[in-house]
Amino acid sequence: MENSTRTTQVLVVDDEQDLRDGAERILTRLGCDVFKASRGDEGLDIIKKENEIAIVLLDMKMPGMDGMEVLRRIKDMDKEILVIVITGYATLETAIEAMKIGAYDFISKPYEPEQLRIVVRRAREKLELKREAEQIEEKRRKTLLDLDAEKSRIHTIIESLPNGVVVTNPEGRVMLMNPSFRLHLGIDKSIGTGKHIDTYISDKALCNLIVEISQGRHVDFNDIPTYELLLPNNKYLMARGRPVLGDKRECLGAVVNFMDISAMKTLEQLKSEFVAKVSHELRSPLSTIHEQLALVLKEFVGVKSEDDQHMLSRAKEKTRGLISLIGDLLDLSRIESGIVVQEPKQVSLADLLKDIVDFLGTRAENKRQSLTLEAPDDPIPIIKADPIALESIFGNLIANAVNYTQDGGAIRVKIEYTGINIRVLVIDNGFGIEERHLDKIFDRFYRVKNDKTRYITGTGLGLPIVKGLVDSMGGFIDVESTFGKGTVFTVIIPVKN
Ligand code: ADP
Repeated sequence: MENSTRTTQVLVVDDEQDLRDGAERILTRLGCDVFKASRGDEGLDIIKKENEIAIVLLDMKMPGMDGMEVLRRIKDMDKEILVIVITGYATLETAIEAMKIGAYDFISKPYEPEQLRIVVRRAREKLELKREAEQIEEKRRKTLLDLDAEKSRIHTIIESLPNGVVVTNPEGRVMLMNPSFRLHLGIDKSIGTGKHIDTYISDKALCNLIVEISQGRHVDFNDIPTYELLLPNNKYLMARGRPVLGDKRECLGAVVNFMDISAMKTLEQLKSEFVAKVSHELRSPLSTIHEQLALVLKEFVGVKSEDDQHMLSRAKEKTRGLISLIGDLLDLSRIESGIVVQEPKQVSLADLLKDIVDFLGTRAENKRQSLTLEAPDDPIPIIKADPIALESIFGNLIANAVNYTQDGGAIRVKIEYTGINIRVLVIDNGFGIEERHLDKIFDRFYRVKNDKTRYITGTGLGLPIVKGLVDSMGGFIDVESTFGKGTVFTVIIPVKN
């Protein structure tokens, strides 16, 4: 049996009954559907009626309509039908003429069954190939249609996004920008795409960043900084760029997204102002209460019961806590609004650290901790910085190390000069911080709550203040920690001449 997925309909047109029947037997065994006609016009009627005849075996010499005429009419009706003409022995001319009109193949009479099988198989293979080619073409057309639909969908999404989107090529030329990008950056309609990014954005640093991303110099997505762009009228945009990578991970350019964060910025500023105002208003009455409590407490000694005294000292302690919280809040809002009134002086960081270590030494001793300062033999250069800010930075870090280290632990403060910067490390072998908290501890009010830290009081404002101050000095702070083993805070302070 032939292995064909579809049965082929074959029409045999021959005036000799034996040949018709013989052909039918052979072709049926090949798996074809066979129709028979003894005359040309009869054959044409069958083709019209059946509509699915794919191959015609056509005898050229028949009474009535001549074979050549039948062939012509078949071709007029349907060019796709494959006609195999049956010619008499040694009538090659007829075969050639028939091929000229469009016959597909020929076979001469008398033929062996195998000869018939060969020509019909060949015709069927041709049909099969044609069908496959049509299917492939159909698939291709569908894929193109799908792609078109997808393209148009993506186009609509990009066009209607409230965020500005710009796409660059590896040279930093703009290949695409959406209406929001034009609107946010005030780009005139007459300026089309195709120009370098600095035609559209005047901020040099942002343009450099976009070019770097477009050239594939930032392959690690996490390493790409976001950029806050300040435009006239206090409008803030946050720009975030990503490289577009090809299948071989080559960089094809960048996509940069611009989000309007002006409202968020205003809100943040209002919040900061509000906190500063409330804190300011609270500070003096609280200080008065604190002082008065201290006075009353003094008068109580020896007069009132221990219980009463205890109650009052707790109230005094709590007020002191509140005053220090307010102090932290005020510091923080000053740092955040950029009005840290730093008064730079010549400072020896080594001496300053020694004073802090001495001062906090008592606290460490109470917990039987060792608190040591390690300085190199070579002198550390004097820097120009605000000593109060430096005290706040290292006071907070060392106090934290003492607070978050168990009794009997060890805290080391190390100072080094790298030739360019001064590096201070505050190392403890205390509780440590779990990885998941590490990037949050510099957020305002963030405190890690676990069995060890639960009873330690604090505001969660120390580290944000430290970070704000280090940033304002052009320095850098980093933390490394292993939960249960200890923590290292590293601060880098630039040495400016
Ligand atoms: P506070 O100490 O007032 O809670 P901070 O902003 O100074 O606020 O610190 C935030 C959190 O970071 C702390 O609550 C603490 O859980 C964690 N932390 C800070 N320093 C250390 C340290 N040296 N070891 C372990 N945890 C620390």
